[in-house]
Amino acid sequence: MEFDLIEVIRSRCSVSRADVRLGIGDDAAVLSPPAGHDLAVSTDTLVAGIHFPFAVSARDLGWKALAVNLSDLAAMGATPAWALLALTLPDASRDFVAAFADGFAELAAQHGVALVGGDTTRGPLNVGVTVHGFIASGRALRRDGARPGDLVFVTGTLGDAAAGLRCLDRADARAPELFNAPADTREALVARLNRPLPRVSAGAALRDLASACIDVSDGLLADLGHIAERSGVGIELDAEALPSSSALLALFERDERLVLQAAGGDDYELAFCAAPARATEVQRDLARIGCGATRIGRVVEGERVRLFDRDGSELVFERGGWNHFG
Ligand code: ADP
Ligand code: MG
Repeated sequence: MEFDLIEVIRSRCSVSRADVRLGIGDDAAVLSPPAGHDLAVSTDTLVAGIHFPFAVSARDLGWKALAVNLSDLAAMGATPAWALLALTLPDASRDFVAAFADGFAELAAQHGVALVGGDTTRGPLNVGVTVHGFIASGRALRRDGARPGDLVFVTGTLGDAAAGLRCLDRADARAPELFNAPADTREALVARLNRPLPRVSAGAALRDLASACIDVSDGLLADLGHIAERSGVGIELDAEALPSSSALLALFERDERLVLQAAGGDDYELAFCAAPARATEVQRDLARIGCGATRIGRVVEGERVRLFDRDGSELVFERGGWNHFG
């Protein structure tokens, strides 16, 4: 049975690359990274009931499992090349695996990623993906390069995925209202949750421009906290500057919106720092790519991430809402 399932996956993932000497079918893949490049490697696991609701479609799950991994490569400025897929399945459902592989393959094709191996076992549903990408030697975008005086930016818009999750949650305080919202608005938010677009070209463009970069998976404040900690700096953000999609603006008032944007997560946008002298180039290059970049704050001496309201007071997230501080 496992051999059949591997064939179901292999036949759908059709990207072939000259740098794959040996792909699926032997005891190990044999791969040939380009000269003069470093290899960026990352792995992420999605567990049913924790990282995705059981109701998610197999096709969306396949897409997202690869997307969250490509987002990690994007945050390093790496160009994706190869993936490995470790699938643990409660039963040998061919239809599930086929739909999963279709979603995975759709995104893999967009980024020229070859599936070069993996593992298929029986157990509680669990999806582990490992990705490999290339970066010119010594040029990776890291978390530890932010310096006081740098500006802080984010690609795209924030909060949509977390808003999409609320739209699906029958126990949400506003469930009937969100459920009856215009279909295109709801669907735009849910699509950001189920089919995130890893910012691979943005990451590549930022290789020469950003001083530090991270992808927003846990939530903007939490993730920028990692840059602050690794760089030994503080970060100040302007609440008013956080970019919103029209769908988010249509369904959520400011306070709710701010929770989704600053603490929601699952955005898979890139949050990054750059010297002020690079700001024009950053905004021009990312506009050209299509995602754009919004300036949301600055790097200061200090050690944590603080969010400021338009009147200059600090906003602190407590007991499910925002409180003014100081
Ligand atoms: P082994 O027992 O040597 O680990 P497997 O039967 O697990 O071999 O795998 C056979 C081949 O199929 C290997 O090349 C492996 O990388 C590949 N493979 C297994 N499962 C997957 C999967 N889910 N996705 C992609 N390749 C897989
Ligand atoms: Mg194996």
